[in-house]
Amino acid sequence: MIELKKVTKSYNGSSEPAVADVSLQIGRGEFVFLVGPSGAGKSTLLKLIFCEQLPSSGQVYFLGRDIARFKAGELLKHRRRIGMVFQDFRLLKQKTVFENVAFALEVIGRSAREIRLKVPAVLEDVGLAGKGSAFPAELSGGEQQRVGIARAVVKDPLLILADEPTGNVDRDNSRQLMELFETISLSGTTVIIATHAWDMVDRMRKRVLALEKGSLVRDEQRGGYSYES
Ligand code: ADP
Repeated sequence: MIELKKVTKSYNGSSEPAVADVSLQIGRGEFVFLVGPSGAGKSTLLKLIFCEQLPSSGQVYFLGRDIARFKAGELLKHRRRIGMVFQDFRLLKQKTVFENVAFALEVIGRSAREIRLKVPAVLEDVGLAGKGSAFPAELSGGEQQRVGIARAVVKDPLLILADEPTGNVDRDNSRQLMELFETISLSGTTVIIATHAWDMVDRMRKRVLALEKGSLVRDEQRGGYSYES
């Protein structure tokens, strides 16, 4: 579903590329951890897939298409097929849980009827049944991230990109969130999670892509956070 061919990304003004000559393929429904120290290029790789950044050289293919060649309408469609989950949740503080999730559908023009049907179902899927009228500030970090995940999955994306999704969540909740991501991937959605949470990576035994200074140094099925584990 995703293929990177010799992708290098250098930001203006920096001497070292953030992503250096990376080639990889990720299939439909795969669950992939992207690991590596801070500054290794994990976020940049996610941004290249989302087409928020363009490669300096090489190509990123999504469903066989070079995403750098998308016209404006295709780019919009591409992004609609991707659900993003952030470390800092990025919820709208003035909106309730229901409204936060509904908003993701409103901005892509879905009907009020669909929103009425879909939002409660997704909230139930992520374990937030009954929390629809709460405001983000009334929720724990783990619950807020469940809202973030609900907002990402409500538009039935083909792909979820999560950047340090458990960075602001305690260990028990992190574990539950990872299990939620696993359930999502089992339903056919591809999930890519950039993370430092080595204990979660070791526990889940999923495919691990490791970056170091922008280079892909490891691609291992049922891997751990580091070689030794
Ligand atoms: P990670 O997510 O693994 O911490 P990043 O992709 O954020 O790594 O960063 C990789 C490298 O690119 C770092 O050296 C970082 O400073 C640099 N970088 C990231 N974003 C930008 C940007 N918008 N402009 C310039 N340099 C950036």
